[in-house]
Amino acid sequence: ADMQAIATADIHLDALDHNLATIKRLAPNSKVVAMLKANAYGHGAFTVAHHLNGAVDAYGVARIDEAIALREAGINTELVLMEGFFSADDLPLIVAHNLQIVVHSEFQLSALEAMAALTGQIQLPLKVWLKVDTGMNRLGIEPQQFQSFYQRLRTCPVVDREIVVLSHLSSSDQLNSDITPRQIALFERTCTDGSFPRSLANSGAILAWPECHYQWVRPGVMLYGVNPLHPANVDDVQLKPVMTLHSSLIAVKSIQEGDSVGYGATYTASRNTRIGVVAIGYGDGYPRHARIGTPVLVNGVRVPLVGRVSMDMITVDLGPESNAQVGDYVELWGQNLAIEDVAADAETIPYELLCNITARVKIDVL
Ligand code: PLP
Repeated sequence: ADMQAIATADIHLDALDHNLATIKRLAPNSKVVAMLKANAYGHGAFTVAHHLNGAVDAYGVARIDEAIALREAGINTELVLMEGFFSADDLPLIVAHNLQIVVHSEFQLSALEAMAALTGQIQLPLKVWLKVDTGMNRLGIEPQQFQSFYQRLRTCPVVDREIVVLSHLSSSDQLNSDITPRQIALFERTCTDGSFPRSLANSGAILAWPECHYQWVRPGVMLYGVNPLHPANVDDVQLKPVMTLHSSLIAVKSIQEGDSVGYGATYTASRNTRIGVVAIGYGDGYPRHARIGTPVLVNGVRVPLVGRVSMDMITVDLGPESNAQVGDYVELWGQNLAIEDVAADAETIPYELLCNITARVKIDVL
């Protein structure tokens, strides 16, 4: 066995291709803005951006720093700043780096108008997405403000004349809720015109709500192979996990019935058994709140986490008959162990597990 005691995230680019092909099959008439925010959900924004170059129509990021870092790494694909900008001082940077922006507030529209008053037309007008709040109550103008915002943007000399109108769904992962149909209906009522491109669908909606694919879809988590739907699946859709997080056993020890394991002695063995110590912990992004029994794969065998997650290690119950040895391969989630299962046992969501991968984890692009 490979004796490297290093937590490693394998990034499977073929899985990324497969998931993108699935997205395009489900939404064949839509352009794709691939969400690369938060370091591409922990997968490495540069890696993903270089790989998907030419295969999607735009990338979505949350923060201006994320966008500029991608530009500085040589990424020329269209970039959309999904949270927009927060200061008029950002506008020159946005122009210089050719970023698209999301307008969701009066402040931003006024800043654009002020810039226009100062400069008149600019050579490359800003590409703007106008965000309407259809019920999430997070970002977006009120539906009744739509006509006025749209007209002001259309006549603003620094803004490109094609404006994408978008909204965000709060519950597209909930198949048995009427929230999504209500958001779609409000979106339709608000922007009926049809002379501009529209966008509503995140992963859940790409999978489950084809009536709102419109001209642009915005996949995040499904690109990385995670199916967000509850209940779980659309029958013919098999996504492939892009990240496999793995490490190795760094110690194996026998314990007796009644012995306890780890900080706080939260786990006490009910039989004699063998405990495996794995080189991964919350310092790598493994969730500290993973409960006893969270699945871990040791040499392909599913064993339960026991005891608390430490910064650099976790402990698993290998079972009394185990012949696992130091150096053996351990998968924490990925190709053979669904991240959804781990997330459920850690009372979180796959998104958070992926984003929390820390800089200490080695990234192997395959
Ligand atoms: N669109 C917007 C505006 C978002 O903020 C996000 C992520 O939160 C997405 C799309 C992608 O969502 P998901 O990862 O669920 O596909």
